[in-house]
Amino acid sequence: MSVDIPRIGLGLLGGTFDPVHNGHLALAGAALQAMHLARIELIPTGQPWQKTRVTASHHRLAMLRNAVEYEPHLRVNTMELLREGQTYTIDTLREMRSHVGPSIPLVLIIGGDQWANLATWYNWPALFSYAHIAVCERAGEPLTTTDDVRLFTENRSTAPHLLCTRAAGSLTFFEMAPHAASATVIRSRLLTNAPETALRSVENWLPISVAQYIKAHGLYVHA
Ligand code: ATP
Repeated sequence: MSVDIPRIGLGLLGGTFDPVHNGHLALAGAALQAMHLARIELIPTGQPWQKTRVTASHHRLAMLRNAVEYEPHLRVNTMELLREGQTYTIDTLREMRSHVGPSIPLVLIIGGDQWANLATWYNWPALFSYAHIAVCERAGEPLTTTDDVRLFTENRSTAPHLLCTRAAGSLTFFEMAPHAASATVIRSRLLTNAPETALRSVENWLPISVAQYIKAHGLYVHA
C-alpha cells in the first residue's frame, strides 16, 4: 500500500556555504525526495561558532542566490545572517517555528559529521521540540554518534517518508549517493593552484553561476 502524504514539510539546511557547491544541492535534492518535502530553505550561518574565518556574508549569500535561481524547491533564508552575535541552531528552529505555526512539519537536515558531534550543540535535546532531525547517510560512510544522543533518540526513529506526518520530535536517516564536492577542497585548490587552472580544477563541483561569481570577485585566491 502506498502512503500518499501531502508535501507540507519544510526542510532546513544550514551551512557555511563557503562556497555553496553541487554536493549541497545533491543533498537538498535527496532530502526533498526522501521526505516528500514541499521545499528546503538553505540557511547560511552568520558567525559560525565552530569556525574561525569565513568569507564575507554578502558573497556567500550572493553565491547561494545564484545557485538556487532555477531550483523551484530551494530558497535562501537569511535569518541567521540578520541575527547579531553567535549563531545557534536552536534559536533558528525556535524562530522558524514561530513563523510557521505549530502544525507545519519542520525538518532539520544534517550530515553524518554533524550527527557525530550533535552532543556539542547548544541545548541539542530541545531541537526536537521544534523540528525533526533527518541525518544524511552517504553510501560507504558509517554513521556514529555519542551515547547520550543515541539514548535520547532511540524511541524517536521513523521512516523518511513518514516523518512529515507530525510537526516535530522524530529522527530519520535518509540516503544519498556519494558526492565528492567539498568546500574546504574548493577553497584550498583556488588558493594553491595556478590561477589559470585553479577554477577549472573545481568547476565540476560548482554551479556555473557560482564559478562565474568566484572568478568575477576574485574569491579564495588570498589566504
Ligand atoms: P567545509 O568544507 O567548509 O566544512 P562543507 O560544505 O562541508 O564545508 P557546510 O557548508 O557547512 O560545510 O555544509 C552544509 C551541509 O552540507 C553539512 O550538513 C554538510 O555535511 C553537507 N555537505 C557538505 N558537502 C557535502 C557533500 N559533498 N555531500 C553531501 N553533503 C554535504
